[in-house]
Amino acid sequence: MDTAQLLDARARVLADLAARQLATPAAVSALEDAVSERGWWADQWPEGAVYVAGLVAQDVQDALFETVGRWPLCLGCGERAPEHSLFISPDLGGPDPVWVCEESGDVVAPLGGL
Ligand SMILES: [Zn+2]
Repeated sequence: MDTAQLLDARARVLADLAARQLATPAAVSALEDAVSERGWWADQWPEGAVYVAGLVAQDVQDALFETVGRWPLCLGCGERAPEHSLFISPDLGGPDPVWVCEESGDVVAPLGGL
């Protein structure tokens, strides 16, 4: 896989972690693991490159859920709904992954744009 694409995936997920003050050493380490795993995967299957950024975000989301909790939280619904997350759409991870509110189904931001 093209290294630039992998670095772009890493930068976008890192930006969204930082946007929620969650770019902690543990989160960054989960991010590095996900980037190296998905990079290996895309080397085996080059057509998978378009899915990598979204898949890395999903991997980090899963890793954080087990430790610090939900990331990223939806900030758009406010009092209208109990605390809930955003998820990556399309579910396959790409192409052009965006964060979608799991309650309203609204697109909140592109990956990297929180
Ligand atoms: Zn919401």
